[in-house]
Amino acid sequence: MIIIKNSEQLKLMRIAGRITAEALMVARDAIRPGMTTLELDTKIRHYIEKCGATPTFLGYNGFPGSACISLNQEVIHGIPSNKRIIHEGDIVKVDVGARFRGYNGDSARTFPVGKVSDEALRLISVTEQSFYEAMKVARAGNRIGDIGHAVESFVISNGFSVVKSFTGHGVGAELHEEPEIPNYGRPGRGARLYPGMTLAIEPMVNAGTENVKVLRDGWTVVTADGKLSAHYENSIAITESDPILLTEIGLD
Ligand code: MG
Ligand code: MG
Repeated sequence: MIIIKNSEQLKLMRIAGRITAEALMVARDAIRPGMTTLELDTKIRHYIEKCGATPTFLGYNGFPGSACISLNQEVIHGIPSNKRIIHEGDIVKVDVGARFRGYNGDSARTFPVGKVSDEALRLISVTEQSFYEAMKVARAGNRIGDIGHAVESFVISNGFSVVKSFTGHGVGAELHEEPEIPNYGRPGRGARLYPGMTLAIEPMVNAGTENVKVLRDGWTVVTADGKLSAHYENSIAITESDPILLTEIGLD
């Protein structure tokens, strides 16, 4: 069942979304070569808690961190660790969730550390742009397949591939609600979009093939070919007209 949010619920989701967005900006400003992913995670958790919110991911299905922090060939779900050091030239995916009065924001960015390769910069840029291609069709009356098609066709036209074994999702009182939002699809197929639906759209884009595997830690998803991967996610609300970006600063 897809849950439609009323204006009161959307107001809370805007606040949760703003805190999520700000936590990502805290992460962006804190990242420097030599720091561990656990140090970065701690800064994110402190910021969320300072806002009177809770980190959604902490303890979710047993996840030990407040954020998923994934480097380079890691796609998603990297576990923050005091043994994992961030280096110059890395790309760092930070995925954050914040819960405020029962509602969640979910957003992710890929940050370059110092000077990174031209291909890495292009991968990050294409991944972000593919989200905005999805935004163009995230409108009442369209369907979930339109979103996936928009993401995948843009990514493929730029010579990269989308990860298919993990998807975006509805977001609200639960971190993961229906519907699933694959980063591929057929136009005009899948669930119809209605005003009040809140969705986490999250392209995961690989420089090489789409194939991924899960490491033995049970969480970390990596590219099968060892090439780079980027991630870009926002929580949005479907309206009668343009979609609203919930995980953006300065909205409420
Ligand atoms: Mg996320
Ligand atoms: Mg998500």
